[in-house]
Amino acid sequence: MTEKEILLSSIFNCSRSALYSQEWSLNAEQAKKLSETLFLRSQGVPLQYILGEVEFFGLVFKVDQRVLIPRPETEILVETVLKSAAGQMKMLDIGTGSGCIAVSLAKFLPEVQIDALDVSPEALSLAKENVRRNSADKNINFVQSDLFSVFKKNNVNNRLGNYDIIISNPPYVRSGDINGLQKELKYEPGMALDGGGDGLDFYRRIIAEAGNFLKKEGRLFLEIGFGQREDIEKIVSAGNGFIIEEIIRDYSGIERVMIMRRDGKFSN
Ligand code: GLN
Repeated sequence: MTEKEILLSSIFNCSRSALYSQEWSLNAEQAKKLSETLFLRSQGVPLQYILGEVEFFGLVFKVDQRVLIPRPETEILVETVLKSAAGQMKMLDIGTGSGCIAVSLAKFLPEVQIDALDVSPEALSLAKENVRRNSADKNINFVQSDLFSVFKKNNVNNRLGNYDIIISNPPYVRSGDINGLQKELKYEPGMALDGGGDGLDFYRRIIAEAGNFLKKEGRLFLEIGFGQREDIEKIVSAGNGFIIEEIIRDYSGIERVMIMRRDGKFSN
C-alpha cells in the first residue's frame, strides 16, 4: 500500500480496495485527524509512529519510538528463514525490537521456540505486547541482553544456547549517515540503526560469537544493508566460524540476506 492509502484506510477504517470502490467524505473528526497527521508528517514523524501500528508479514504490530519501524525488506529475512526451517527448531533472534521477526516466524512455525534478545528494556516491553496481540506467547521467550552477554553470566539460564538458527537484523547504518539520510530516521531509536563508523560493528560482533551458541549444523541468517555484502564476506573469511551459503536479494535487487553455516572446523 502507498502511504496515502495507509493513511486514508486508517482514517476511514476501511480496506484498501474499499477506498476505491466507495465514495468517501470526511466528517469533522476525520478531518481533524487527517490535518493533525499531515502536520506531523510534514515535520518528518514517520506515518507508522503517528498511526501507532504497521503491517508486517500479514500481521499487525504496534510501533512507537521505542522500536525501529519494521521494513518490508525484513520480510525477505523472515521468508528466507521459513524456507529452511521445520518442526521443533530452537531459534535466537538478536535485537528483536518490535518482535516482528520472532512473531512472524512463530505464526508460521507453531512448534518453534524462539529466544528473543534486545538490549533495550523499553523495546522488550513493546515486543511483549506484540506477542500477546498476535497470540505467540507460548513460542517466544524474551531476554534483556546486549548481544550474547546474557550467555556469559554465571547464572545463565540453561534454556539458552544450542540453537538451530540464529537470526538478526542488526543496526547497520553508518553513524555519520544517520543525520544525513531521510529526516524520518531521526525519530527512530539511534541504537536500532547505528552500526558504528562503517556500519559493520554488529556483524563483527555477531559473526565472532554466534558459532558458540549454534548446533553443529546450525545456520546464521543476517539482514544486511545496501553495498555491505563484500565487507561482511571479508569479516566471515577472516574468522573461522562460518561459511557463506547463500545471499538473497530483495525485491529491488539489493543483496539483503546472508545465510551462513557453521564451519565444521569450528572448535566447540
Ligand atoms: N533498513 C533500515 C534503513 O535503511 C536500517 C535497519 C537496520 O539498521 N537494521 O533505514
